[in-house]
Amino acid sequence: MPELPEVETMVRGIRPVMDRAKILELRACPCDRKPLSISPIQPEFFERVRGCSIDSVERLAKRVVLRLSSDDVIVFEPRMTGLVLVSDPPSVEHLRFEFRLSLNKLRHSVWIWDRRGLGTFRLFTKEEFENALGGYALGPDALQISAKDLHHRLGKTQRSIKVALLDQKLVAGVGNLYASEILHEAKIHPQTVASKLSLKRVQRIHTAMNRILLEAITYEGSTLSDGTYRNALNHDGSYQSKHRVYSKEGTTCVSCNVSKIRRIVQTQRSTFFCPRCQRK
Ligand SMILES: [Zn+2]
Repeated sequence: MPELPEVETMVRGIRPVMDRAKILELRACPCDRKPLSISPIQPEFFERVRGCSIDSVERLAKRVVLRLSSDDVIVFEPRMTGLVLVSDPPSVEHLRFEFRLSLNKLRHSVWIWDRRGLGTFRLFTKEEFENALGGYALGPDALQISAKDLHHRLGKTQRSIKVALLDQKLVAGVGNLYASEILHEAKIHPQTVASKLSLKRVQRIHTAMNRILLEAITYEGSTLSDGTYRNALNHDGSYQSKHRVYSKEGTTCVSCNVSKIRRIVQTQRSTFFCPRCQRK
């Protein structure tokens, strides 16, 4: 968390005030918590962006990307508890950075907020950006990849399908929560060896992946019981009410109304599934 739908929601939330805006100033907020990983170090970062215009606001897998008029690129990766806000932060003590912006003669602020401080905030030259995140660093976006390409990529790994879906070099944007939901929708057992999936079954996963991720974007992502994830206006997402398996161990499956949802651990992460709907 946040995964593709949450980051897409953040990007859509900040775009109206950031796209084409001029950065008057980027400043660090007073904060005595564990600092975010930032590069280059602050004076250089802040000086290089001052006065630049933001040419585009994009999502790259689970990152927010701001392309600047100077050709530099700002990348914020929320990781676990990071947020980008245009108003009213959940708490003042976890505010990290403030963009002071000017757009159509109006002044706005956009804040980077992070409760646990595990996010990363980086400024790249265009070339550094390509080296770090272009080429083969990330797989195709989960909303862009074709079923055929997904089948081809899954065909090369002996890992289980659930673990493979979390590999950002294989397909980018899916995380632990949506992987369980996607496999439930596709009726695929999470321990199925990825390379053994037929094209037909991968097509089911592909269809489910698109459906679930797009629906989750419509609902502005999932705010779990810890309440951390918020949209850019500091409101809850609402896709959590649509979850069928995630974090529902022991409850009756809403798809078959018979079996209880089970939890297993795969590479130290919880997976939730219905043993009846998702047979081995
Ligand atoms: Zn079921």
